[in-house]
Amino acid sequence: MSEILVLVEHADGDVKKVTLELLTLARSLGTPAAVWAGPGYSEAVKARLAEYGAEKIYVAAADEIGDYVVAPKAEVLAQLVAERSPAAVFVAATGEGKEIAGRLAVKTDSGVISDAVGVGEGFVAEQSIFGGGVNVHSRVTRGTPIITVRPNSTTPVAAAAAGAEEKVEVALSDAARAARIVERVVQEKGARPELTEAAIVVSGGRGVGSGENFSIIEKLADALGAAVGASRAATDAGWYPHQFQVGQTGKTVSPQLYIAAGISGAIQHRAGMQTSKTIVVINKDAEAPLFEIADFGVVGDLFQVVPQLTEEIDKR
Ligand code: FAD
Repeated sequence: MSEILVLVEHADGDVKKVTLELLTLARSLGTPAAVWAGPGYSEAVKARLAEYGAEKIYVAAADEIGDYVVAPKAEVLAQLVAERSPAAVFVAATGEGKEIAGRLAVKTDSGVISDAVGVGEGFVAEQSIFGGGVNVHSRVTRGTPIITVRPNSTTPVAAAAAGAEEKVEVALSDAARAARIVERVVQEKGARPELTEAAIVVSGGRGVGSGENFSIIEKLADALGAAVGASRAATDAGWYPHQFQVGQTGKTVSPQLYIAAGISGAIQHRAGMQTSKTIVVINKDAEAPLFEIADFGVVGDLFQVVPQLTEEIDKR
């Protein structure tokens, strides 16, 4: 079966869950080959990638790759595309991933499909658009299909493979050195999972009423081991940091469970969460548009419903 390159997303030497999802997806369509670019590669990384089906692991571990913003990773992939002629390249649809995919498409004169929620036979990618109202199926017809896939679109399933390592030496171009990373500011991580990677997200909107009241949302999130999200109304009001905004101009999430409390369901909010597997809406207005895409809805005051829910979950 033909090789599918999967760019590994990693932080602090850890492989992110989305990479395991992409390896699982690639396995259904060909032979997954993981591509590690940057410092921090270890035996633990190798074991993790092999556990999820990487037959091969291309390792471009030069420190320099981590010193510059995204461009070196695109060069590593471009070199592998030229040398290996893979059937496709899968990259996570994260901010960094999408930029790498775009650069790779230009370098390899290939088509790119962004934000896929699935990929089928013949590398036909599925995208969900217009607030989830339309599903588009499309295929790259030029060069190597480059597809960015949204986190949480596939359930990662382990299936051991060889994980045969191959070193990749890359001579970075001057262009790849155009933007150097001068400082990394580690944001307070806390105990909660990363928003775009979380299996469960609990979001609050204008209905939450204040920054202090967001503790209600956080308590439910912590009871469920979930990430916290917010609507733009809540982040614009300064009640919750912008980095947690879900929607068109925020993060796109696709968790197993999305709980929205005090969020009306504007199209721009839906754009960031409509592909969630199960959607629970808590709103005191029975006519709130988000109920249209809810799997379960509670018409009620979030200040009563959310603490009760948290209490029940805490009991278990
Ligand atoms: P509202 O629409 O005001 O809804 C509040 C809801 O809370 C209401 O339904 C109300 O019934 C309910 N409520 C009130 N009190 C309670 C209570 N006690 N218990 C239960 N329910 C209660 N929005 C985003 O979210 N993300 C984006 O990325 C985004 N990008 C945008 C980009 C552009 C270009 C534009 C123009 C807009 C964007 N917006 C975005 C804004 C979007 O249009 C909405 O204004 C926003 O999503 C509304 O947030 P909300 O649902 O929290 O507030």
